[in-house]
Amino acid sequence: MEGEHIFDPEALEASQEEQGEGNLEVNLRPTSLGEFVGQRRVVEDLQVTLTAARQRGEAPDHVLFSGPPGLGKTSLARILATELSTRLISTSGPALEKPRDLVGLLTQLEAGDVFFIDEVHRVPKAVEEYLYTAMEDGQVDLTLDSGPHARMVTLRLEPFTLVGATTREGLLTAPFRARFGLLHRLDPYPVEDLVTIVERLAGLLGVELTSSSAQLLAERSRGTPRIVGRLLRRTRDLAQVRGTSPVDEALTRESLTRLGIDENGLEEMDRRILRCLAENGGGPLALKTIAAVVSESEDTLEDVYEPHLLRSGLLRKTPRGRMLSPAGAQLLGVRAPGEDGSRSLFD
Ligand code: ADP
Repeated sequence: MEGEHIFDPEALEASQEEQGEGNLEVNLRPTSLGEFVGQRRVVEDLQVTLTAARQRGEAPDHVLFSGPPGLGKTSLARILATELSTRLISTSGPALEKPRDLVGLLTQLEAGDVFFIDEVHRVPKAVEEYLYTAMEDGQVDLTLDSGPHARMVTLRLEPFTLVGATTREGLLTAPFRARFGLLHRLDPYPVEDLVTIVERLAGLLGVELTSSSAQLLAERSRGTPRIVGRLLRRTRDLAQVRGTSPVDEALTRESLTRLGIDENGLEEMDRRILRCLAENGGGPLALKTIAAVVSESEDTLEDVYEPHLLRSGLLRKTPRGRMLSPAGAQLLGVRAPGEDGSRSLFD
């Protein structure tokens, strides 16, 4: 599949969380809705869903979580299974290459299991169609043999809850999306929530953090719990090597500088994207062109980097392509496209 061999820092980081350093991370994940910080609306709705399902003794309706990476979609899927005292069977869209990959998992499900599909927008079309009847009627229809001997068998499934996570809700087909009874969008977290998250993590890791240090880490993590966790771990490393405790603001600033994270929470890749636009008259540039110049996949640019640049008002998406906004131009110290009647930044 396209993109499969492209280096994806976000995927790498997520998988590192699960392994090695990640063994620790698994324990650091919130395990109940009560421990899950922020996203009040989503949490309250899930509480209602869970209570109603428990009262009826039924599996809750299928749930779709959407939003940028690192905001807690996987954590919520795990929490749902824990709160329902059921198993969590996990897979991801790209892993379901053939219908039989899906059917193999579906037929293993026990009553009430949570079946989690990460990157659900990447489930191949041929597989997706099997999910329709599984989600709607609790069965899969398989065609055995071919030609004149072909016959259809129907496999009944145990009642289950499908939890899908996607960074690109817009890529889901309408019939697929319509089969999720509950649609929850996760938004980037406000700084106060990230302060709570980083303080909780510091407590679990046994790191002493001053409040100004927690505030600084939260401000620089672009609304994302995964990033604040990563910044905390790197700062902890530096503090340990220096023998500094508690972790104070000066050490945190030094750590952020070493990580190449500037005052605006921008990383090197963000700056490269903005520079690429600046060097091309401020845009408009096609995503494909930017991806080629900065050597990053289009998917990663759209999922990981652009949301923050768009939210910060540094980048604009137009029908003709990506453009540097006046704020973005100001940040780089160049003229914005269209200013002074000129499109070029350097004429
Ligand atoms: P996603 O599936 O959306 O990419 P994850 O659920 O893997 O995100 O979360 C990334 C990391 O951030 C995890 O380590 C998780 O513990 C932490 N995290 C996410 N949301 C929260 C939250 N609301 N409260 C505390 N920690 C969170």
